[in-house]
Amino acid sequence: MAFERTIKQAFDKLTGEILNADEVFHKAKDAFLLRKDFHKDDVELYCLECEQKLNVSTSKNDRLHFKHNQNSNFCLLKDGKLSPGEKEEIYKIHKSKESDRHKYLKNKIGEKLSQLDDISSVQIDDKFILDEKERRKPDVHCKYLDKEIVFEIQLSELSLRYIISRHEFYQRNGIYLIWILDNFNVDGRKQTERDIKYLTEYQNFFKFDEKAEQFRLICKYKYPYLTEKNKLLNKWETKSIALSQLKFDKVTKQPYFFDFSNKTKKKKQEQIQKKWELEEQEKLAKKERKKKRAIEKSNSIINSLRESWSTNFYYGRIKREIENLSDYELSILNDNKAFKPKNEQPKIHHWFKIAKNKNVHFLFFILDCEQLKIDFNVKSANDETIIQTLMENKNLIKKDYLIKQILKNGYHFQEKDIVYLNNLYLKPKQIKINKILCQLSTKISDKSLIDDLFDHSSLICIIESAKRNKIVGFDYKENEWIAFANNAIHSYRQYWEYIELAFKHYGIWDKLIKSDTNRTFRKKLREYYDNNPKQNFDCDKLFKFLYPALCE
Ligand SMILES: [Zn+2]
Repeated sequence: MAFERTIKQAFDKLTGEILNADEVFHKAKDAFLLRKDFHKDDVELYCLECEQKLNVSTSKNDRLHFKHNQNSNFCLLKDGKLSPGEKEEIYKIHKSKESDRHKYLKNKIGEKLSQLDDISSVQIDDKFILDEKERRKPDVHCKYLDKEIVFEIQLSELSLRYIISRHEFYQRNGIYLIWILDNFNVDGRKQTERDIKYLTEYQNFFKFDEKAEQFRLICKYKYPYLTEKNKLLNKWETKSIALSQLKFDKVTKQPYFFDFSNKTKKKKQEQIQKKWELEEQEKLAKKERKKKRAIEKSNSIINSLRESWSTNFYYGRIKREIENLSDYELSILNDNKAFKPKNEQPKIHHWFKIAKNKNVHFLFFILDCEQLKIDFNVKSANDETIIQTLMENKNLIKKDYLIKQILKNGYHFQEKDIVYLNNLYLKPKQIKINKILCQLSTKISDKSLIDDLFDHSSLICIIESAKRNKIVGFDYKENEWIAFANNAIHSYRQYWEYIELAFKHYGIWDKLIKSDTNRTFRKKLREYYDNNPKQNFDCDKLFKFLYPALCE
């Protein structure tokens, strides 16, 4: 292994020269001459790193080298356990300190600082700062208000150990350190550039602003921002700032212009807020899309219904389309203005007024489609009920069926509707039955039972006759109760239990027995009991609404 000298350079204070160890010790003659000079005090040698005195020492094999005194303070070159590469960097720094650029910068900085009101005690390369461990001589030292600031100019690459050592020294001594990084490239991939970035949490880097008249620094700082897509990114900004624009972190002793981490925290909060807003916007957009789709479907159905007004071709398809709608889409359909009153006339009255026989399928469809929420109790612009409107339409037949469907759709039959039923194209007996059924419909709150009511019209008329003590819905004369009862037991034997119960409950039974002089009724009754025919109870639910007294 080649012999490697730890201290490669020494500064001779008497001549102002930097002596290179390898050069001066290369020739044995020069080397021992130097050793002689040293002992004669003709040279005064100092370490360029710690500025402590060095001596010329000899090792075995008569190798001469520079050496710190045994009782000297800490020095990177003595105690730093540096690698050869790290040592090399420190020598480069020492060399650069002697460069014209370095001298120019420290003098300019010192000179410009001296012109500022708040600055005092500017010292260029002339101030030793000592503590129990080390001593340093910063490039520029000054007092700024109540603070002590040093400027270290850096032209060459720095080793991390060098940076940390400087940083810790000044921090320990309560002094704010500003690196003047002359060739620094924030985007650089060099080790030095990466090291220094992660050492300073504010990520503010300074250059001396040579163009400014007064003292200014060019600060390069990382700036966090949100993209349009809410991504948090950073970019480098550059700004020329006055000393008064600097802020000072009392804990880390770092001066900074822009607080990157604090701004990043705020941006992260902004990002969360924006994320929420974007989500809300998306929800709203989704809702809008949903609404738009529902309106499109609704319009398409309305158009199909318009086309179907005069035909019955499309009802099956339209019915399926309506059945496939979601609850929301259905609410949009029911909200369509096609179902809203026009000139204060509810549409239902309009349709029932103008419809002709060829349009009756449209009315059937409207009445049959339970998904359509149409109010059949609403009065016309002229205060007419839907039954009135229907009955006044001279162009429609099948009105009895339409009336039944209207009742099924929740229409509350009105007393004033009764008279309009006379206009039905039916036999008088059938009109009377319809009147009875329509009146009874008001007692049935479960409208699905309206079909049962109309399907059992004769049975209902038998019970009603008993209840009213007057034969209704049959062609019997007023006193023909036996014939009426004989017909009932003959034709409605599967419901006879209901009928007998009603006859007894409403007091018809005794009258029947009394007036059964030919015993025809009792004969039929005996026949009935002998055969005991199966009873049909499919009207139980209906009777609970119509004749609760019979169901107790
Ligand atoms: Zn030293």
